[in-house]
Order: sequence, then C-alpha cells, then structure tokens
Amino acid sequence: MKNCIIVIVLISSSLLACTIKGENMNIPEKNELSVRLNFAGNEIMVNARLSFNKPLKELTFILNNSLIIDKIENNDYPVKWKKIDEFDFLSMVNSQRIKVTCKYPITELNLTYHGSIAGTSYYNVLTEAIKALSFYSVWFPQEFPFEINHDEVFIENGEDLFVVKGTFDEKNNTWHYGGEEFHPFNLALYEKNVINGDGFDPFNIIAYKKSALKTVSNDYFNVFYVDNSIEKYAQKAEEVYRNIVKFFNGSLFGKKELPILDIACVSPALKTGGGYQRKGLMFATDLGNDDLYLTWFLSHETAHNWCGGASVFTWEDWLNETTAEWAVLLYALNENNDALFQSIIDGKIKKAGNYPPIKTKDGSRPEGVHDKGTILFYEIYKKHGKDVVTKMVRGFTDLETKDTEHFIKMVEQEIGQEVANEIKKGIES
Ligand SMILES: [Zn+2]
Repeated sequence: MKNCIIVIVLISSSLLACTIKGENMNIPEKNELSVRLNFAGNEIMVNARLSFNKPLKELTFILNNSLIIDKIENNDYPVKWKKIDEFDFLSMVNSQRIKVTCKYPITELNLTYHGSIAGTSYYNVLTEAIKALSFYSVWFPQEFPFEINHDEVFIENGEDLFVVKGTFDEKNNTWHYGGEEFHPFNLALYEKNVINGDGFDPFNIIAYKKSALKTVSNDYFNVFYVDNSIEKYAQKAEEVYRNIVKFFNGSLFGKKELPILDIACVSPALKTGGGYQRKGLMFATDLGNDDLYLTWFLSHETAHNWCGGASVFTWEDWLNETTAEWAVLLYALNENNDALFQSIIDGKIKKAGNYPPIKTKDGSRPEGVHDKGTILFYEIYKKHGKDVVTKMVRGFTDLETKDTEHFIKMVEQEIGQEVANEIKKGIES
C-alpha cells in the first residue's frame, strides 16, 4: 500500500473560530472574507477584503511566510502592519503572523499580496496545467480574532480555467467559488485546453457531461484529471465506490445524503502526499495503481463523511482517523476482503511501534495518529471481536461532543469498563 499522509478537516471554520478574551462575546452578525485571486505563472496575486461589524484598534492574522504583502488598508485609511511572529503552521508550513494597527477603528481590511506558495505544503501546486490551493499552505489570511461567517473566492481571468465546484460568470470572466455551505479555500483548477481542448463549456461539465473533459463521471462522482494513466482506475472506482457507499450509508452508519463527489487528481504535478476530502471535494494525486490502494483511498475518504468532528489540530484527531480507518477495515471484513484487511493492518503494525503515544503532553497532534489508533483498535478487535469495534466506530460518529473523554465515557456505558480501560491505557503507551 502506498505510503501517504491524509489530513482531513471537516469543520474548516473552526480554524477561524475564536473570540477576543475579555471582550463582549457577541459574534457580529456577519463577518465576511472575500478573496479575488489571479494566477501569474507560479505566483498568486490576491486581494482579500475582510469586513466585520465590530471595530477593532488592532488585529492579527497569519499568512504563508513566502507571500509578500503589498498593501493593507482600512476603509481607505492607511494602516501599519508588521510581522510579529514566524512559526510552522500545523508543523508543515512556514507562516508569518501579521499585526495590523490603525489610528481609526478598523472595520474593513483590504489586503493585497502576491508570491508563490508552491512546494511549501502538501496539496498545493501551481503548474501551468494544474493549480491547487488549500488552507494548509495558508495562502489566504487565517486566524482572525473572530469567526468568519461568510467567505468566498473569485478567480479572475477565468476563461482558460475550469474550477472544480466553481461557477463561471461569463460576463465578468470570473469563477465564483464558495458561499455559506462550502469552504472555498481549497481550490483545484485545470487549464482548460489541457483538459479537453477547444469548445469547452464549463457549465456542461459541472452537469456531468461524460467524457467532455478528461473526466470519468457517474451518478456518484466525477474524476477530473490530466494524467491519462488515471483513467483505468477512475473507471474501476465506480464499482468500488458503489459498494463502499452501500456498506457505509445506512448499514455501518446512519443514512445520509452524500454530496456528489468531485475527485480532483493532480498527478503529474504532484505524485505523492495523499489527499483530503471536504464536503464532496476530494483532492488526490491519483487513484493509485492497484485495487487495494484504490479501495482503501476511496473508502477512507468516504468514511470521513461520518468519521470526523474531533479537533484535527490536536491529538484528538486520532479519533477521526482511527474510526475512518476502521470503517475501511469493517468494510473489508464485510466483503471478506482479507487482502485489503491484512495489507492495512500489516502496514500499520510495521509503523506503529515507531510513533509516540497518541495522547501528547502538550495536546499537539502527534505523528502517526492513523497508525497507533488503528492498532489499538486492532488489539481490541482481536480480544473482543468485530461487534465491539463496530460499536466503537459507530458510537464515535454518534457522539455529540467529539473528544476522547466523551468517547471513553460512551465505551464505558455502551460496551463496558474493560474495553474502556484498554483504550485509556492504549492512548498513553
Ligand atoms: Zn483520514
């Protein structure tokens, strides 16, 4: 099985959700972040407009450290800004923290910056054929001292681009992306002529016109790609995904309406690094080159439709990843797919011993949360059987407060003290 890193964020807005200590906790009715984005070679040029209805004398935000700030204004008033910190965002990306001050109350910030974030993070590429941006690169300002209620991105000069999940505004030659329901900062774009040459109509493609793009489309998903070698597995993915959904949706987990999945493959721009899935957008390098990987990848990402909600920025992420991985393992057991089950477990056993305990002293997210937790559940599976692990996985997805404390409490009540103790012990060793 291909070695890869999967980082999933289901509640993206939690990143921005914080309030100012000691101040009125009322959240302003609407705080908006509107981003206009242009591509120029391997650089991005961005104008970000932030408006909020609670005037501040100063505020801070973070941005990728490679990006160069050209201008910041407050309602056309000049402001002062300076870099007050440099740090690694999510232990991945060199970031800068900027402090903005103004002698007038700040209610609107206009921020212009440019630069390249390519190569600074997983999931971000800026090649001629493919442009992919995600919040992991901090390509847009984050961590404001308040929650953003509405955010959207406009990709300008869009006539040569097709934006997955975007809407093309022909009059303004702009792709609109985002809104209340969809986190717009994870972009996957392809240069149009690379995808299908002349006569391209973005509206038809979003409407699943088969084979218009280099896409594989069916009732469940669209695969977008430029690398021809992806087609074979994209075709295969239909049957695999259908089976996965049949098992997850209404059998292992409660039934829910699943969004049509848009799988944006970025090979050959990126060949390694795994993917993420967010509200029907799945970022992938490719679909692998064997059946086991394809099944694992699709089912793991699909499981995150249910297996999520614990903080992804702390060690609590072990719950999201372990339950997603075990959803796959339960699927393998259900299908009598020993090869899939064993390939996942063998890979984890090999790695798990090298990683630190799941529960870290400082609360940070340790390396290897996929692996340690999966093996912890595996020990419980061997001792107590499939039904107990099924209850654990399902029980997590039903939790109202998704953290380890509540998870263990649920296990105590629904399964028993012995298993709860094994989990308590397991996360510390
Ligand atoms: Zn995952």
